[in-house]
Amino acid sequence: MPFPYAANRYREFRSRVWEEALPLAREPKRPNFDREPEMELQARWYGGEFGREFVGVDGERIEVVQFGHWNRGAGPDFTDAAVRINGELHGGAIEIDTNVKDWEGHGHGANPEFENVVLHVFADGPALSRFFTRTREHRNVCQVQLPQYAWSQGPPDFLPEAYPGRCVAPLSLMTDDEVESLLLSASQFRLQEKAERLRVMSRATSTEQALFQGIAEALGFYQNRTAMAVLAQRCPVSELGEMNPLEREARLFGAAGFLEQGIFDEALEGQSRRYLRGLWECWWKMRGGIESRPPKKISWKLSGSRPGNHPQRRVGALAALVSQWEALRPVWEQNVNNSVEKVVNNSLNNLRHPFWETRYTVKANPVSGRLTLLGKERQRDILGNVIFPVLIGLEPERWEEFTALKKVNTNHKLRRATLRLFGEDEERQQLFTSYYHQQQGLLQIYRDFCLEDLSECDHCPFPEQLAQWGQSKGRENSIRVSEAA
Ligand code: SF4
Repeated sequence: MPFPYAANRYREFRSRVWEEALPLAREPKRPNFDREPEMELQARWYGGEFGREFVGVDGERIEVVQFGHWNRGAGPDFTDAAVRINGELHGGAIEIDTNVKDWEGHGHGANPEFENVVLHVFADGPALSRFFTRTREHRNVCQVQLPQYAWSQGPPDFLPEAYPGRCVAPLSLMTDDEVESLLLSASQFRLQEKAERLRVMSRATSTEQALFQGIAEALGFYQNRTAMAVLAQRCPVSELGEMNPLEREARLFGAAGFLEQGIFDEALEGQSRRYLRGLWECWWKMRGGIESRPPKKISWKLSGSRPGNHPQRRVGALAALVSQWEALRPVWEQNVNNSVEKVVNNSLNNLRHPFWETRYTVKANPVSGRLTLLGKERQRDILGNVIFPVLIGLEPERWEEFTALKKVNTNHKLRRATLRLFGEDEERQQLFTSYYHQQQGLLQIYRDFCLEDLSECDHCPFPEQLAQWGQSKGRENSIRVSEAA
């Protein structure tokens, strides 16, 4: 089914299911702000994910004209910003907190460095009382509470291991074609959401920068997604593009915090030390204004990831990828006549890095063989999560190409989704996880229903409403016909 008609069908189905659900199941789940680290919120803000235009807490019309600079030292989070409030332009700083009360909790109200804050952005606040933001001089600061759509990526991964859900039975009664059309529609819907996020980010920065951040996030895997997003923001692709390869790498490694004395001391092996010294000699000349002080440093997660996914290797891969940026340009400039997958894979297969092809980290000894810098799985994720969402928005006929993209190795979330929806039916598990779009469809249903459910399936409206899926086809056709007319 062509893009975006299947997405519309799923969207309509999804809202109908929730409209007819029991109130308990329909209760919106509050985002868990305590789990949302402040830096992730700031990275999403700076990446333009929330857009530029807001309505303030007191109804003000707010436009962020300039996002400013991400402050690496003490003081407000973003300096030199420009914000239009009810038509009047204000220059100053922007402070971002997970909770509005953090302003006082962190002592900003008594701190002269926060006197020029023009906008206080926050995600959560007390439900029953109003909390004002005031400076040391008792100036009232305009407040913006972030819209909840930005938390659409779902809650963090804290669920217990999966068990087969109540929808296994009704799904088993559906034909393969019906299940395939459900997954395909859910996956089209998901792709549209990703495309929308990147489009909003592009408007706040540029298409290239949004793509660069998206690719960096994909390289960060689950553990270091935010850290890589922050790194991409602190090292914009437009600036990296003007540097030579050594400067580019020094900028990325320095901004990542990987050129500090402690890391140099850990690198016992001569070649590693020479590599780091070369980067350091370039970095120290440029680090003023870029280097972050402790509270604003990028925090990397090292536990739980494979050795080959160590963040130092991922940053090495990102540096190598920037060298291939021009080869990738035809993709987003819509100059590809044949397969996008081929063009992207050809460029990414060409990534080379003499040091990172033989090392897991700077302190590890070289390995004997050659390590792949960017494996097939990562390449497919970059295609499926970043490049196709952008491209299909511009060229809907690329949807067919997207549906030919093969699966990626299952991750824990996908395993849970498959088990919950198909139970122990191995044949169906395999049949409906062979392609990337099927996996994405499963993840979407898992997010929309399983992660919203608080009743061990008892109050989930999905199983009862599955019968409507077949009936919704007629409605979808009529939407399509009327849109075409
Ligand atoms: S929560 Fe709903 S969608 Fe998820 S397994 Fe249970 S019945 Fe199925």
